[in-house]
Order: sequence, then C-alpha cells, then structure tokens
Amino acid sequence: MQADFLVIGSGIAGLTFAVKAAQQFPEKKILVITKAHADETNTKYAQGGIAGVTDFEKDSFEKHIEDTLIAGDGLCNRQVVEIVVKEGVDRIREIIDWGAQFDKEDDGDFKLGREGGHSEFRILHHKDVTGKEMERALLSEVAKYSNIEFIKHCFVVDLITQHHLGFLVTKSTPDIECYGVYVLNRETNQIEKIIAKVTLLATGGNGQIYRSTTNPSIATGDGVAMVYRAKGRIENMEFNQFHPTALYEPGVRGQSFLITEAVRGDGGILRNKNGEAFMERYDPRKDLAPRDIVARAIDSEMKITGTENVYLDVRHMSVEKFVEHFPNIYEKCLSLGIDVSKHLIPVAPAAHYSCGGIKTDEWGRTSIKNLYAAGECASTGLHGANRLASNSLLEAMVFAHRCYMDAALKVPELSYKNDIPDWNARGTTQPKEMILITQSLKEVQQIMSDYVGIVRTNIRLSRAMKRIDLLWEETESLYQTTTVSPQLSELRNMITVSYLVIKGASFRHESRGLHFNTDYPNKSEMVQNIVL
Ligand SMILES: Cc1cc2nc3c(=O)[nH]c(=O)nc-3n(C[C@H](O)[C@H](O)[C@H](O)COP(=O)(O)OP(=O)(O)OC[C@H]3O[C@@H](n4cnc5c(N)ncnc54)[C@H](O)[C@@H]3O)c2cc1C
Repeated sequence: MQADFLVIGSGIAGLTFAVKAAQQFPEKKILVITKAHADETNTKYAQGGIAGVTDFEKDSFEKHIEDTLIAGDGLCNRQVVEIVVKEGVDRIREIIDWGAQFDKEDDGDFKLGREGGHSEFRILHHKDVTGKEMERALLSEVAKYSNIEFIKHCFVVDLITQHHLGFLVTKSTPDIECYGVYVLNRETNQIEKIIAKVTLLATGGNGQIYRSTTNPSIATGDGVAMVYRAKGRIENMEFNQFHPTALYEPGVRGQSFLITEAVRGDGGILRNKNGEAFMERYDPRKDLAPRDIVARAIDSEMKITGTENVYLDVRHMSVEKFVEHFPNIYEKCLSLGIDVSKHLIPVAPAAHYSCGGIKTDEWGRTSIKNLYAAGECASTGLHGANRLASNSLLEAMVFAHRCYMDAALKVPELSYKNDIPDWNARGTTQPKEMILITQSLKEVQQIMSDYVGIVRTNIRLSRAMKRIDLLWEETESLYQTTTVSPQLSELRNMITVSYLVIKGASFRHESRGLHFNTDYPNKSEMVQNIVL
C-alpha cells in the first residue's frame, strides 16, 4: 500500500494534519492509521479545555507567553512558545469553523475558565468534555474528504528506514530517511508495509507505563519507541506530569477518571484526611498552584497521614453551577455514591502527560528525514520542564498545521521508495504463554510507579534501571522468537520508553519543573535539555 501523506494516530494532531492535507491536495492520498477505534485517543478524554487568548481586553499574548515560560521552569524554547500562543488563535478559529462548539455566556462571549498557572481566564471549554467535542468535530470533518482513507485497529510496529535496506544505521548516521512503516493487519495477522512520501507520528502519550494514569490503554509511547529504535532523537523524557486529582477508586486498575483542574479553578479546595485545607502550607497560590507543586503536596500529605488519597471539597460551591460546568464529573461521582454537594471527593495523583518526546524543530520535523511528529509524542520546546494546563491541545493543532505546511512543500517533489523488503518473520512462532507478556507489563508499571514517580532519588533510579534492563533482555529474546502481536509490541515499546524516562531522570542532576530528585533538591546553573 502507498500514501502521499501517512498519518499515524487519529487524535487532535493526526486529524488536524489529515484535514489540511486533504483540503490542499484533493488528488493525493492521505492515509490515517489508528490502532483502536477512531476516537479512542487521549484527545477524547480532555476535560478542562484549550488555552488561547480570545479576550484581548483583559488578556494578552504576552501574559499567556509569560505563564507558559514560568511553568516551563527555564527549559521552554521562547520562539516556540510565541509561535504556539500567537498562531493558536487561528487554529482555534479553524476548529470552530469545522464545527467544534465551546461554551458561551448569554452575551455570546466565550465562557472562559482558569486553571493552575494561568494568570487570566483563558480556557475555552465544552462543559467538562472538551476533548470529546473536538474529536467529534474533527472526525466529522475528516469524513467529508474522499481522499482520506482511514484504517482502524491497525497496529504500526516500526518505521522503515535505510536499516531495512541492509545499511548500518547508527545515531551518528547522517540523513536517516523514513520510507513508511510496517503494520500489523489485525484481520490477516500479517505484517504489511505501507510506503509513504511523508509520515506524521501523532501517536500520543505514554501514561500507561505507570500503574495509575488518566490515559486510556492506547497511550503506550509507541511513536517515541519507534523513533528511538530508528536512531532518531528523543528529548526530556524525565518530565512526566502527574495530574494531582484523579478520582481515587480503591482496587481499580487501568485508566483513572480525571477530576479536572477547572474544579479547583471554580473554587474546589483540597483537604487531607483530617479535613485540613493543606495547600496554603505549600504555596501562596494554594489550590491554584501549578500541577507539579499540587501533586507533590498531595504526595507529601498522603505520606504524612499514611493514606492513599486526599479529598477535594466542592460542598460550598453552587450545585447548579457545578452540574452545569461539570456534568460528567457530577454523574460519575454520583454513580459511585458520592453526592458532591454533601460528600468529599476522594482523589490521588496519576500519570497524565509526557512533556518530552520525539525532538522536533519549529516545523515539526524530526531528526529523521520525511518524518514529522506532532501532539503529545513530540517535544517541540513548548512545555520545557512542565506543561501549563490546557496548552497541549493548542500545541497539537499549531504543530499539526506547521507539519502540514512543511510537508506540503515537499510532497510534490518526493517519490515512493522502491525495493522495500517484506517483513521477515522467519523463525518465529505463536506465543504459547501470554502470562510472559502480561506479568512483565505489570512489572514495568510497578517499577515506574514505585521508583520513578513524583519524587525520585538516585538509589530508586538505579534500582529501576537494573530491573528495566532485565525486562528488556527477556522481552527482546521473546520478540526474536515470537510472532509479533500488539501486546508484545506495546510491552516492548513501554520498556523502551521507561528506559528513556529513567535515563533522562538519571542524567538530570537537579530538580527542575516536574522532575524532583531529593538527592539534587536544587536547580542547576546549567540549563539544558537532555537529548537521548
Ligand atoms: C484525561 C485527560 C484529560 C486531559 N485534559 C486536557 C485538557 O483539558 N487540555 C489539554 O490541552 N490537554 C488535555 N489533556 C492532554 C491532551 O488530551 C493530549 O495531550 C492530546 O489530546 C494528545 O493528542 P494527540 O493527537 O497527540 O494523541 P492522542 O489523542 O492520544 O491520539 C493518539 C493516536 O495514536 C494512535 N496510535 C498510537 N500508537 C499507535 C500504533 N502503534 N499504531 C497505530 N496507531 C497508534 C492511537 O490509536 C490514537 O489514535 C488531557 C489528557 C487526558 C488523558
């Protein structure tokens, strides 16, 4: 199979790119691949909203830029921050034109929310299901273009580069090129090749490497792992954002339900098991301090009081307003017997967002030729050491647009690569024991949660590395002898991504942004990105 534009991922980044390419090139083929249902993405679960300057009387680009730089703790690329904040307004207008609806006041102005780290009310939202609404609008826009082909439940295993043509490719090889991908066809169980002129990785986050995460099961860091295997550049993987307030449900594994930060923006107060509003002891901004500070404060309160959760108190808020702004959260709590007007909501931090990823330049170009990355899998320089809340949907749209702009100039000049060999499955057999995969997966999540979580130490990192190394060896030998399955591929990718997080964390001899190591509690004079 061939495609002029190959898009891996059907979240906000992938679909934005696909629509733009389809609009400009009606005669060219755009192929979108996703490993799950079309809308099973991190995008669908975004609650709080999308940050953007729309009220120019009270707000300004400068204020949004400043807030982003402060959150990024010295590691943002200022040029990229300016690009995202300024160009974001046009991208928001575009998605509104494509049908996305954001809540409005009676006078027709946007109803703007405020979240931790923002100095102004600037978050556009659709109740508490903003991502679902944006994904809906994007999918219906995609459906209008006959030159977009959409393949669901199709797992991308690896990028195709010169390596597959028999050349030795190392980190120092100049001009590594991407010719397309190998995919696992779930119907035939065969690995097929898809040849493309340009490829966009929009594979999302990696929250699943932790035991508790707000991310759905697709978030296994596949894009990052594929680029690392192809000898491309990966950056700042140690900056994992933990959302301070996922709903705490004892005994529940997998994706945790998120209680958006906007609830604290509207007046929600965090309390420990003794009922104390503890945030004032940690930061003058109290419950609206940036996420990393709130997450560490909760972690510390849980350790002091010996509990697995704290509470969010919204009992003093108007229940009518709460239901109007957060209907989804209200219903979810009620389904568990929590009436938010009378009861405290039990919450605990959960892995939420990966700030680092595939290193790109300001046009979304990776270190591999004809390969772009956008959205959560990319490290563009916007977030630095910490993401400002609700900046990620904005970044995904701005960079999807920029990738498309650059790719649109290249595609007419490019041709398909011939002579790509078929996938070599010689010597592999069907897996006999799935337990070898499922148990290793649990171990990865355990290691990452216990040793590489919100607070890190040198000894924990070194233990984590030793254990991940062992899992890597075992999984690689399984991979050499077993027919490829999505489960095995995901495990392999999660081990690679965990390795990159631990490696980044071990190289960073300081505490900065989201990375906090008690052996190096201060910031270093040397301000640097860690590129692996
Ligand atoms: C609960 C929650 C709440 C959030 N709230 C907000 C918010 O309020 N505001 C904000 O700005 N951000 C928020 N975020 C973050 C934001 O939603 C994500 O960063 C963003 O949606 C990522 O979009 P994406 O297009 O990069 O990836 P995704 O939307 O995650 O899409 C990834 C796609 O890649 C596909 N894929 C992955 N690997 C493969 C493979 N090997 N083969 C084939 N397909 C593959 C997946 O199937 C999927 O289609 C939230 C995230 C979560 C989880």
